Amino acid sequence: MSSVLPIRTYGDPVLREPARPVKAITPEIQALVGDMFETMRASQGVGLAAQQVGRTESICVIELPEGYDVEDEQGPRLNPDVPLSLALVNPKIIEASDETCTMEEGCLSFPDIRGNVERPWSVVIEHLGLDGKPRTTRLNGFFARVAQHEMDHLDGELFIDRFSHVKKLAIRSKLKRLQAETQEKLHSA
Ligand SMILES: [Zn+2]
Repeated sequence: MSSVLPIRTYGDPVLREPARPVKAITPEIQALVGDMFETMRASQGVGLAAQQVGRTESICVIELPEGYDVEDEQGPRLNPDVPLSLALVNPKIIEASDETCTMEEGCLSFPDIRGNVERPWSVVIEHLGLDGKPRTTRLNGFFARVAQHEMDHLDGELFIDRFSHVKKLAIRSKLKRLQAETQEKLHSA
């Protein structure tokens, strides 16, 4: 049985910790992946990285509603060969398109903050499957965006780092408040 884990919010130092590679897909790792999917679903997120549940294994999970993996509303899936639920272990981007796309993003660790981020439209990722075998997965469009957002987390990087200077200034006080709330929670725990 998987459980819903508490989500770490901005101001929690674990969000700035780089992830460590997973050495082997053990039952513990399988259980962590299950808990991460459960936690993401409970918050209606489309992606979650280990740091967001206070862990530092190099793991992120993604789950897209089918209607999100398209270019046009009625169009075909952009990534028909990729399962809509995807766990990436030790992911590494080995190729990124020159073509980029700017879109508004949110993050479960930043309730109430959204902002535009420019990212490559398509990436090729090397990672481990849950069977322990190396995989290469190409992702296009929104799927690629979510994977890149989650992989930033694994580097201890956050989407706010990619905001424009103007946007950073605009959310400064909101961020300070969130950071203070998080730290208060951490100290009273
Ligand atoms: Zn995030």
